[in-house]
Amino acid sequence: MGIFTKDIHNMNDLFVHTLSDMYYAENQILKALPDMIEKANDNALKNGLENHLAETKNQVKRIEQVFKLHGVDAAGVDCPAIDGILEEADDVVGEVEQQGVLDAALIAAAQAVEHYEIARYGTLIAWAKLLGRNDCASLLQQNLKEEKAADAKLTQLAESHVNRMAA
Ligand code: ZN
Ligand code: FE
Ligand code: FE
Ligand code: FE
Repeated sequence: MGIFTKDIHNMNDLFVHTLSDMYYAENQILKALPDMIEKANDNALKNGLENHLAETKNQVKRIEQVFKLHGVDAAGVDCPAIDGILEEADDVVGEVEQQGVLDAALIAAAQAVEHYEIARYGTLIAWAKLLGRNDCASLLQQNLKEEKAADAKLTQLAESHVNRMAA
């Protein structure tokens, strides 16, 4: 990161920088999910988060492939946004006493994570196409598809029963 010099010169640099941001974010999510899985009470929620943990491991590998296609080493850059979202999740979840309410809090936190990822992947895919890198775009599209499905699954769990159990 440039303190004395600006190190993003063009769209390709910006793409790689944002890819590094997501590489860091996905790795932070990988670290946070086991704790969320452990705290979840509802079995469907637990299973859903476990499934997404497995998907997330694969997403990290896809990002590594995109770095490779770009001819640069895979490296993360700090993403204060995901750190903040995960920190907030941890704070709120830690304050909840009742089990059903805890599940509702976990879903809300997980959806904030998914929405950050959806925003970032949407941007990365648009930039990859702009740069003529459909190979990178299609790998990132697979990650985006999983994030959207995870988000929809969380909505479905909340609306089908978790929120009612909490209320
Ligand atoms: Zn930089
Ligand atoms: Fe992800
Ligand atoms: Fe970020
Ligand atoms: Fe995700």
